[in-house]
Amino acid sequence: MLLRHTTAEIIERTALTVNPAKTCQPIGAMYAALGIHRCLPHSHGSQGCCAYHRSTLTRHYKEPVMAGTSSFTEGASVFGGQANLVQAIHNMFTIYEPDVIAVHTTCLSETIGDDIPQIIAKARDEGKIPPGKYVIHANTPSYVGSHVTGFANMVKAMVDYFATTEGRKEHRLNLIPGYVEPADMEELKRIVGELGIATIMFPDTSNVLNTPQTGRYAMYPPGGVKVADLQRLGTSVGTVALGRLASGSAARALDTKCKVPCEILDLPIGLKATDRFIDTLRQIAGVSVPDSLNLDRGRLLDVITDMHQYFFGRKVALAGDPDQLISLTEFLVDIDMWPIYIVTGTPGKKFESRIRELTKEVPYPVKVQAGGDMFLLHQWIKQEPVDLLIGNTYMKYISRDEDIPMVRFGFPILDRLGHVYFPTVGYRGGLRLLEQILDALLDRQDRDAPEESFELVM
Ligand code: SF4
Repeated sequence: MLLRHTTAEIIERTALTVNPAKTCQPIGAMYAALGIHRCLPHSHGSQGCCAYHRSTLTRHYKEPVMAGTSSFTEGASVFGGQANLVQAIHNMFTIYEPDVIAVHTTCLSETIGDDIPQIIAKARDEGKIPPGKYVIHANTPSYVGSHVTGFANMVKAMVDYFATTEGRKEHRLNLIPGYVEPADMEELKRIVGELGIATIMFPDTSNVLNTPQTGRYAMYPPGGVKVADLQRLGTSVGTVALGRLASGSAARALDTKCKVPCEILDLPIGLKATDRFIDTLRQIAGVSVPDSLNLDRGRLLDVITDMHQYFFGRKVALAGDPDQLISLTEFLVDIDMWPIYIVTGTPGKKFESRIRELTKEVPYPVKVQAGGDMFLLHQWIKQEPVDLLIGNTYMKYISRDEDIPMVRFGFPILDRLGHVYFPTVGYRGGLRLLEQILDALLDRQDRDAPEESFELVM
């Protein structure tokens, strides 16, 4: 009963978050930066911030995550972090030899008001940035937004710093995958490969944070989008961006800067969102959908049909990131489950209206909150329980206290494996999600069934 102090009665809170449904901006910025080949992320703030960002990513991905820090102490807090950052840039290029240093700010350096472009220019003027090497930056004050905002800001920085047009166009698409797992990025590349479309995907954390054991440590794993490809983003004929919050700003910035038209879609999680993704690619690139993808779709449809009796009418509570929750809600409604409580820690009014639109057929009052927390979600559950929880590791406390089965989905997942290796995007990802949901529901049914109705075959 770790959450025994949660009450069913809701008292209005205006300046207090309890059990937030988000993490801090720089974590997302650091994750995005790791999707550039030979990039060393750098946290411009105190060592404590950097340790938190790194440990959260390391615990989620089960891989060592390297990053620099400006190591603010009292002096930098009073006089600003310029000297620390210039020294850090020099040290990192000298000792660790990255191709790119991706600087993100923290609450402290944002409050001081450090001007990062000016500091980068100073480092360049002083010869601290070797020829052919790059320093990029994103402002990531964590007292606004969430890790999703930080991810979006760093992806946009890739466009701001690298994209050029060179006055020519090549028959190729840019793909911005959104804040998804390395396995999801692999699956997205597989799908565009099946369609025969040439793409540049950025960022790309596949083969960076899901690398095989080789017995040798690699400071810079083989994956990640190359700088040369980032510099060619402006020559592509179009951009497909997945997830409005995580990818929309970079896609729009590329359109403004290099006149590359963009389509901003929902994350392809579930049947309909994947259909829209593949159909958009098909139309833009002028290709046909191959049998292999139709086969994947048919299998997903078959499982939905076979297992519908177990999904129908089950009430679900969701917590997580907005792009994921929008697609997941649509998927759950499509299989006749009823998502009735939906909370994201990332603020945004459009999220609530989109969820209301997607759940208008659900025969229950649906409660949705952007910028909410898991304490509120728990209070809703105490007032009217649900059959299933879907969310990150922190939801397990509610699951245990209320004895409700749970499926781990989203970020961070600190206490299980699998999320890094098995995609949830695309038709194959949909199969995995259904498998997890069905297992959770039927394991509970088996546990609670009286002996006379304990079935061998469901
Ligand atoms: S102080 Fe701000 S940037 Fe640092 S860990 Fe906390 S929320 Fe994140």
